[in-house]
Order: sequence, then structure tokens, then C-alpha cells
Amino acid sequence: LGRHKDDNRQSGFNYNGVDFNQNNLNVFAGLCAVDVPEHVEIMMKALEENGQVCTRMGAYKPRTNPYSFQGHGKGCLPWVFEKAGKHGIKVVAMEITHESHIEEIDTCLEKLGRPTGVMLQVGTRNTQNFELLKAIGRQSTYPVLLKRGFGITLNESLNAAEYLASEGNANVIFCLRGMKTEAGQPHRNMVDFAHVPAVKRLTRMPVCVDPSHSVGTRQHSPDGILDVMHATAQGVIAGANMVLVDFHPKPEKALVDGPQALLMNELPAYLEDIQLCHDTW
Ligand code: PEP
Repeated sequence: LGRHKDDNRQSGFNYNGVDFNQNNLNVFAGLCAVDVPEHVEIMMKALEENGQVCTRMGAYKPRTNPYSFQGHGKGCLPWVFEKAGKHGIKVVAMEITHESHIEEIDTCLEKLGRPTGVMLQVGTRNTQNFELLKAIGRQSTYPVLLKRGFGITLNESLNAAEYLASEGNANVIFCLRGMKTEAGQPHRNMVDFAHVPAVKRLTRMPVCVDPSHSVGTRQHSPDGILDVMHATAQGVIAGANMVLVDFHPKPEKALVDGPQALLMNELPAYLEDIQLCHDTW
């Protein structure tokens, strides 16, 4: 992944008609966790209406508490992918927590005639799950979104990215999502978006920011601007190439992370602000 950029290989890749590189910007707004078809439909329709071709949808959820909702798993894949295709979504970012999920996703997409594409997400709890990284690295059908580990050094997380590349898959996007520390209060995590230019300098990878899981709340500052928006602006102005962000039609009904989801009527202004930030840096 060009840790030392000692050759001239280009950064980035094209997947399913969408370019991912260190210069452009792709937004993946969507549901943290897939719940009911109605909410997925509302989300995908809104994205289409706002000119978006990417989304995030969680089917396999890694939860801290074993009694919390664990995601619908492979059962929801057919209707999620069909709805994505229906609304012109080309890439769905989807976390997987076990290598068997790659085949579940692939089998489902193949059966449906590949109405959309999938970017395999490795969550922060699995950044150093080396066997999972190696399994994902061995396949080259799907690009990978690798989250930074929330309790390890940046260097250790960048080495995790090399696990993917060393097995053969260099189509990797590196995602900053905040670091776990009490100092981060009142936010869920300490926003680490100052590392965007550092990762771009050290590697060839496009860099994503996840303001939702960094901030973890819909709180807003006295000027009324949402903390998630402030964090997004920090990331994009720092040069982020991708934004992964939670929205939900009814956050109070969301099965995972409702308190940090933005509302559907906030989507147009959010996208507009991101574009402004991107055009500025
Ligand atoms: C997520 O993006 O759904 C998620 C669980 O994020 P993280 O791995 O960063 O906690």
C-alpha cells in the first residue's frame, strides 16, 4: 500500500464504476444497521434523489453486549441488494465479522445478477483479526474499508492494512473513526481526523472518515450545528476521500446507534456542506 511510496504505482482504484483515490470524495450515507425494508427503502430512495450512488448498510453487527441486536445477517441480503439496485446504488459498504460472510454476500449477489456492488468493511474491533484480514485479502472481487483500531497505534492499524495487501487485495480504503479515551468526553470517541493527511502522506490509500462513530451523538453546538457536521467538515477539509455516516428515517426506532443518526431531512444540506468543504481544501 506504499507505506514508503518508493515506487510510482498510482493510488486508488475503480470499483463498479465508482472511482476511489486520494483526490476525490465519495459519501456513504446510510443505516448503521439494516432493520426493516421500509427504512432501507426510504434511505435508498433519498440517496437516489440526492444523486448518491453509494451507501452503508450493516447486516452483520459486532456488538459489545451479546444480548444486543446482532444484525439480520444473510437473511436481509437479498432485499437490501435488490433495493440498492432499484435505486441505482453501485456500492454498499457492509461490515463482515467472519470470513464465511464473504461467500454469503457473493452467493447472494450472483443469484440476483449483481444489482449492486459491495465494499467489505472491517470494523475497529477486528482491525487486528489477522485471520479475517488474510481471508479478505485473498479475494479480489470486493474492495475493503478497513477501520482504524480504536485502541492501538496508527502504525499498528497501517500494518493491518498491509495484511490485506500482502495477501493480494490492495483495493483498500483506510477509515479513521475516533479513538477510545475518557478525554474524548462528551463524545463517544476522540476525533482523530487530523491524521487524514498523515495517512495520505504515508500510504497510497484513499482515506475515509466516520464522523458518526467518532462523535456518537446528535448533540449540537450553541450555534446549532451538529457535532457530526463539525467533525465531518474537519475530516473533509483535512483531505478525506470518503465519508461514512449514519442516517435513519426514525432514529428512535433504530436497532443500533440511533442516538448518533442524522435525520433524512438533514441529508441535502449535509451533502451540500460536504461538497463545499471538499471544494475548499
Ligand atoms: C460501524 O461502522 O457500523 C461500526 C460498528 O463502526 P466501528 O467498527 O468503527 O465501531
